[in-house]
Amino acid sequence: MTFTLAIVGRPNVGKSTLFNRLVGKRLALVDDQPGVTRDLREGEARLGDLRFTVIDTAGLEEVTDDSLQGRMRRLTERAVAEADACLFVIDARMGVTPTDEVFADILRRANARVILAANKSEGRAGQAGVFEAYGLGLGEPVPLSAEHGEGMAELHAALMPIA
Ligand code: GDP
Ligand code: MG
Repeated sequence: MTFTLAIVGRPNVGKSTLFNRLVGKRLALVDDQPGVTRDLREGEARLGDLRFTVIDTAGLEEVTDDSLQGRMRRLTERAVAEADACLFVIDARMGVTPTDEVFADILRRANARVILAANKSEGRAGQAGVFEAYGLGLGEPVPLSAEHGEGMAELHAALMPIA
């Protein structure tokens, strides 16, 4: 059985880097309609023996501060509604920020099935943030480095119960 995973979280935590690592060049949905903002990117992911659809909440990066809250809330809610589970990504180097708390709240209210990931956890700089992530109350964080490809076996293990 296959499933759909939405990668959610505030801008700059590494969602698209992870999406690209999981999807590689197998980008499924390319919207070439002019003037259409690509808010949700969808692709076919491979991780070990797992095959699943992955959604990247792209398009959060360009918004201005005052419109960020509402827009990211709507976009995240849309992704959550389309997915069987969410991979909620935080930046282990930054620790848990107030904006991360806003996302955690969105996911709790949506009753989403959440897997928590602490990205950018490579090296010593990421360690404190991984421990801080426990405080979100969303379960054990999976330490990842999307950029360096670390933590992929742990991510695979975390996704197994959904598959
Ligand atoms: P998004 O806005 O959540 O989609 O984040 P991006 O994927 O665009 O990444 C934001 C920045 O974080 C980029 O400069 C990435 O190169 C960097 N980045 C992503 N993953 C990692 C990681 O595992 N470690 C480190 N140190 N940087 C990362
Ligand atoms: Mg992105």
